[in-house]
Formats: sequence, structure tokens, C-alpha cells
Amino acid sequence: MADKRDYYEVLGVSRTATDDEIKKAYRKLAKKYHPDTNPGNKDAEAKFKEASEAYAILSDPDKRRQYDQFGHSAFEGGAGGAGGFDFSGMDMGDIFGDIGDIFGDLFGGGRSRRANNGPMQGANLRTAVRISFEEAVFGTEKELELTLKDECDSCHGNGSKHGTSVDTCGKCGGKGQVVFTQQSLFGMVRNIQTCPDCRGSGKIIKERCPDCRGEGYISNRKRIKVSIPAGIDNGQSVRIRGKGEPGINGGPRGDLLVAVEVSRHPIFQRQDYDIFSSVPISYATAALGGDIKINTVDGDVIYYVKPGTQTDTKVRLREKGVPSLRNKNIRGDHYVTLVVQVPTNLNSEQKELLRKFDEAMTGKKSTDTNDLEKEKGKKKFWK
Ligand SMILES: [Zn+2]
Ligand SMILES: [Zn+2]
Repeated sequence: MADKRDYYEVLGVSRTATDDEIKKAYRKLAKKYHPDTNPGNKDAEAKFKEASEAYAILSDPDKRRQYDQFGHSAFEGGAGGAGGFDFSGMDMGDIFGDIGDIFGDLFGGGRSRRANNGPMQGANLRTAVRISFEEAVFGTEKELELTLKDECDSCHGNGSKHGTSVDTCGKCGGKGQVVFTQQSLFGMVRNIQTCPDCRGSGKIIKERCPDCRGEGYISNRKRIKVSIPAGIDNGQSVRIRGKGEPGINGGPRGDLLVAVEVSRHPIFQRQDYDIFSSVPISYATAALGGDIKINTVDGDVIYYVKPGTQTDTKVRLREKGVPSLRNKNIRGDHYVTLVVQVPTNLNSEQKELLRKFDEAMTGKKSTDTNDLEKEKGKKKFWK
């Protein structure tokens, strides 16, 4: 990841570039490096991918903000990540959708992005996993069981019975696409569509493989381990490369995107990397001061409450919050609201002491509301 270029640098725009400037810069690069204009040129292809990725991030206000704040690590596992995963709250489907729109503009409508019978990456698979509040704070490993398609061993994915031939589709001549000419208001229009006979594969199977019924894939139940990094928040996803749908015509597999749902905690709330909770303290502790126990994600801490602490006083416990996804050594804070409890269900001795206390504070004789009630023989009217 170290040599990954800055997205602004890739597009050749300043960090304060407007959406329009970003779009223009990208169109220029996309035109220059598009694989259709540079067939077989690996360097152009890499540049095209780089520019597309930069555009996907910088054209989306939310992703751009994340990138400005965290750099590339906003969308990837750190260098210390355990193996080939990265995570992101973003959806590659959206990104390719956006890029598709731009190509629509660039090359005219109705044009397919690439020939359908070339190698294509398999689709991404999506699943979700529920984790506890603490697991999100400290990271965890989960095992998922899901159904994954694997290439059929008998036919190596081409779907034809062993020994039988696969013919090139006669309708499209193996291109996977057919050109339709249509009459429209503006004259004759040429439309390119996926071939209906071979459904884009360019091949016609004479006899189907009995093991996969011509699908080319076998579905298997698989267990997959997911490393969920410390600091992940509800709604973010972990990306596991190469665990999606198999590629088409020898393309790489898609990715598995695991959306993380974090359960609510009975006492902690989270906002970004900070944790919030409230702790009851007794009236006496609030008045006299004293040590209290505060529950944190690291366990209990002892906190000294100053004499004369008012209710709703906010206390900040530094670095007792959630570790940053970017750097485990940076943690948010834990904010605690101290709530002074007014004593209830006092016995007569306690009441007497409080009355004496009140007299000492005010210099006046305290009134027992119960006695007053008895004297007047009336219902409480002051409630
Ligand atoms: Zn097969
Ligand atoms: Zn065809």
C-alpha cells in the first residue's frame, strides 16, 4: 500500500478542486487510458484503474471527506492487517455504477462497457455478521458459513459434458453481443445487446455437464474466517478478496463484503471513536467527594469525585474510547455523565437526620410534611 498515489495527484487536481473540476480531470484521463483505446497496453490499463478508483472516491462527497481525513487507510486495512482483507463502508457496485454513467456520456448511449465474452471478475457477494459492542471496540474473528460457487471440476467451468465439444455461438459469432438496428425518431439507431442465444458467453453447449447441469459451477457450503478490525463501527463492511462469485471466462473471483452490525450495549453508547455513559453517584458522595467506580471497556476505573459535584457533571476519561481503525494506538475518549441520585424510601431515622441537616443548612426548623398532613387532616394538595 505504501506506493499508492494520492488520489488528487492521480487526477492532477488540487485538494480544493470542485466536483466539476474532478469530473473533467477524470474524463480526460479515462478517455486517454481507456482499454478500448489502448488494447493490450497494461500500463494504460493500470492508469485507467487508478484514475477510476480516484474518481470513485473523490466524486462522492462522503468518501471524499473520509479520504481527506484518513487517506487511503479510510478504505483499506492497514499494513498491519492480518492477511488479504480490507474494509470499507463503501460499495464497489456504486462505484462501477458511477463509472458506467460516465462512460455512457463519453462514448454515447447504448454502448456496452466491454465485450461480454472477455475475462470478467465475478460478482461480489454480500453477507452480514452481528458482533457485540466490545468486539467492535477490540476487534474479533468470526467464522461465517455460506454457500460459495466453485468451478465445476468435471467441465472446468465451461458447462459441457466431458468429451463433447463447445461450439461458437452462430448468432453472435462468439462475441457474446449482437447489433440490432432499430428505427427511431432520429433515424436508424444501432443498438448493441447481449446475445440472446448464448446469453453473452459466445458459446453453445451441445451436451450439458451432468455434474453441474451445464452451470459450470458447483455450490458448496464453506466456512470462512473473517478478521474484524478493532474500531469498526455499525454499518461498515469488511472486504475479503477473492471470496465472491467465480470469475467469468477465466476472470478473477469477486469479493465477499461482510457488513458489520454492532449490537447495542446496555450502558455504553458510541459516537465515532468516543464512548458515552452515565454513572449514578450518591447525594453524599456528590456533596462530600469520594472515589467511585466507573465501568469502561477496559474494566472498572476508580475516579475521585470532587466535593460539591453537581448532577450532570461531565467527566472525560482520556483514551478509554474506541481505537481508531487507522491506528490502533490512537483511541477516542470515554465521557461519563455523573447523575446525583436523590434518596428515596428513607426510614424514619434517615428522615430525621436529613431534617437536622436541612435545619443546619437553613437555620430554620424543618417541616415534616407527613405531620402537617395529619394535622390538617386533608389530602396532599401540593403535589
Ligand atoms: Zn460441470
Ligand atoms: Zn451468441
